[in-house]
Amino acid sequence: MASGNGHIQGRDSAQAQARTPRPRRIVLLGATGSIGRSTVDLLERDPERFSVSAVAGGRDAEALARVARAVGAEFAAIRDESAYDALKAALAGTNIQAAAGREAVIEAALRDADLVVSAIVGAAGVEPTYAALAAGRDVALANKECLVCAGVPFMRAAAAAGVRLLPMDSEHNAIFQALGGEDPSRIERMIITASGGPFRTWSRERISEASVEEALNHPNWAMGPKITVDSAGMMNKGLELIEAHHLFGVPAEKLDVVVHPQSIVHGLVSFSDGSVTAGMAAPDMRTPIAHCLGYPDRLATPTPRLDLAKIATLTFEAPDFERFPALRLALDALRAGGGLPTVLNAANEIAVEAFLDRRISFDGISRHVAEACEAALRDGTANAPESVEDALTVDHIVRERSRSALAGHAASGMVTLQ
Ligand code: NAD
Ligand code: MG
Repeated sequence: MASGNGHIQGRDSAQAQARTPRPRRIVLLGATGSIGRSTVDLLERDPERFSVSAVAGGRDAEALARVARAVGAEFAAIRDESAYDALKAALAGTNIQAAAGREAVIEAALRDADLVVSAIVGAAGVEPTYAALAAGRDVALANKECLVCAGVPFMRAAAAAGVRLLPMDSEHNAIFQALGGEDPSRIERMIITASGGPFRTWSRERISEASVEEALNHPNWAMGPKITVDSAGMMNKGLELIEAHHLFGVPAEKLDVVVHPQSIVHGLVSFSDGSVTAGMAAPDMRTPIAHCLGYPDRLATPTPRLDLAKIATLTFEAPDFERFPALRLALDALRAGGGLPTVLNAANEIAVEAFLDRRISFDGISRHVAEACEAALRDGTANAPESVEDALTVDHIVRERSRSALAGHAASGMVTLQ
């Protein structure tokens, strides 16, 4: 029996306290990008639930300062050292500490946090994300290049540190949810879907000459330029197969891609009894991001809800390796293992950059990646990296090689590689 108001109030306030635990501390790496901005959108809607200890970005000081102010970050780090003064000026009148350079981004990653959101693009995200993992921070991983560049040592470090690696990439997040804690030995297949991108129905000839604008015109997702170009050639799906292999410990033979232009079903798992579970959601990255931010609880998001009757038709088709050779290259790298995915990733980053600079044609990207992989297999660069540091060394070597191989190409959309 309640003995009086005081007791009941006491109990109520204890319950209220249990309902409102201390805010979840977040570090946001890649805060000014597409994933970064979607994350900020969610954090801003729930200021009681989250507090942001640090944000980091590449070179846009104004944008980083805006984000830091919006989320009330304690520390803002910009990779480009020459942007320090601009960042400092843009943060004037706040208590937000500004810093610049490679070490500063790592310092941001190591700030006190319950969850580090890894949303820097490319292998530039490996070092800070790895630093966070090794220091025992849980990580929400949008940056798939971490696992393509350094999958084995990266997952080993996560296991050794006993941290949680939450998949933020929509397909992997869907699979994570579809798995529902099942025994991994009962998994028969794991399937990630691909929208097919802007060139899904184009001929190989037309794809080979696609312009930068055409490659950046993704039908379903608004993303940063690198992943958008990767998606147009289906290299993104190849990187995601490698990502899935490491995240879920599933061999290449059990992984599949199916093209699904509506981007409603993101990932599927089939089990030994023939059951198939699927992760579905409207194509809005805030849903997988929210899943990671709230995990194991769920946030309330403003994302569009699925109206299946309105969508009416979901279609699926097999991927075409002839028209999308990058998917084949990534699959081959996954099967070969060792350092080949590291090589593939580095060569691809430099080739995508060259395409975006209009120095090579669209099909020049996959041709360059193929050449880089062949060269690395011949000279031992593709040997398995023992550590994340090893992987970063290979990454560096391949980047330099790719840069000089592509340097001769003048800024013209017409130039193709041999
Ligand atoms: P983006 O280009 O929009 O943003 C990249 C962010 O990284 C920016 O904040 C940029 O300033 C920062 N950055 C770049 N180089 C840096 C460096 N050297 N040091 C520190 N910061 C640096 O890219 P995005 O689309 O947000 O993608 C980010 C990552 O998430 C990629 O790995 C991508 O594959 C993955 N991802 C993105 C989406 C999406 O919808 N955008 C979906 C799934 C996965
Ligand atoms: Mg994805």
